[in-house]
Formats: sequence, structure tokens, C-alpha cells
Amino acid sequence: MKYLSILLLFSLFLSCNSTANENNTDQLSPLEKLKAGNENFTSGHLIHPNQTPVRINELKGGQHPFAVIVSCSDSRLSPELIFDQGLGDLFSIRTAGNVIGDLELGSIEYAVEHLHCKLVVVLGHENCGAIQAYAASTEKKHNDHIQNIIDYIADEEEEKNVPDSLKSNIDFLVMANIAHGVNVLKESEPVLKSLVDKNELTIVGAYYDLDNGHVIFK
Ligand SMILES: [Zn+2]
Repeated sequence: MKYLSILLLFSLFLSCNSTANENNTDQLSPLEKLKAGNENFTSGHLIHPNQTPVRINELKGGQHPFAVIVSCSDSRLSPELIFDQGLGDLFSIRTAGNVIGDLELGSIEYAVEHLHCKLVVVLGHENCGAIQAYAASTEKKHNDHIQNIIDYIADEEEEKNVPDSLKSNIDFLVMANIAHGVNVLKESEPVLKSLVDKNELTIVGAYYDLDNGHVIFK
């Protein structure tokens, strides 16, 4: 039931986005790799790939990660763990609330332009503390830099468009925040938008369920 409601929320906020790498039959696409890794994680059949001295040696000369993961800093959803990946597989950008400013954009552009990642995932999660702080922000102002994160989220059009009746629904607010991240990246000039328009880059949203470890992609 939870899975269906999360998919429904995704359908409200994000349009379908199917692009490159889906027709490769002799190996998994980046998105398929993440889905398979999360299946390993949730089923308890972890492979723990690419975590040996051999892999360290392979990576001495450079890195070729297959996906960029823009996720919340929350300690319960480390990308390499929940997607059963190893060293050199994922290029991670992590901030509380998976908020994306110019510095994060620069990191993403580096991974896409110079490391040739073809997939960017914006990964939010159930009961995100940053979103909960935003939801409570009318009652409490933080006298520190946490307030900057709250102000960023409050300024998102997707959050402003959430109906008043749903502003206490944390899942709904999380989905709006994920949608914002995806929309920001898809419209980002001069790098990401042009690659998306040419079907050379896929940008998707994803939601991590703290109850069972499943990642739901849109
Ligand atoms: Zn969070």
C-alpha cells in the first residue's frame, strides 16, 4: 500500500523520463544496475562488489562511476550500501534534504562532463529530518545554518504548490522536494539541460523507504 501511494505521489510530481541506456541488451543499464543492487540489499543477498584490494588497484589510474547519486546526508541511506555497489561505482553528492545549490551543481557537472556518467538520481527518503524541519519552520526558526536549508526548501516552487491541507504530510513534502531536485537539474544550463535534451543523460527521482530498504524510482 505504501509502495502504491509513493508511486502515486511520484506521478503527481514527475513526468515519465525514459532516455538513454535502456536498449543495451548485453549488460544492465545504469538504472538497472541500481535496481538490481537494491534488490540484493533488500533481499539480504549482498554481493559487495568492487571492495577488494584488486579494485583499489584498478582505480589507481582513474574513476568511471556509472551513476551520480544526489542524496540526503542521512546516515541510514548510504548509496553504496543500499545499491550494493563498491569503490568507483557511484559519484555521490550528499546534503541534508538533498538540496542542490551551485556547489552541488558543479560536482554533478564534473561527474557528467568529465567522468561521463549517464544517469543522475535525486534520492530523498521517508521521514527526512530536513523536510520535517521545514514542515515545522513556521513554529520555530533556527539560529544557525540549518535555517539556510529550511529557507532553500521553503523557496522551492514545488513546495509552495503543495496544498495547505497536505503541508503536514511529510511524504508529500518529500516528493515535492525530490521533484524540485529533478526539475532543477533538468533545466540546469549550460551542461545538464542540453544533455537531457539530446537524450544523452537520464535524470530520475527516487524515494528510499526506511521501513524496508526499498528504493522506489520514478
Ligand atoms: Zn533526509
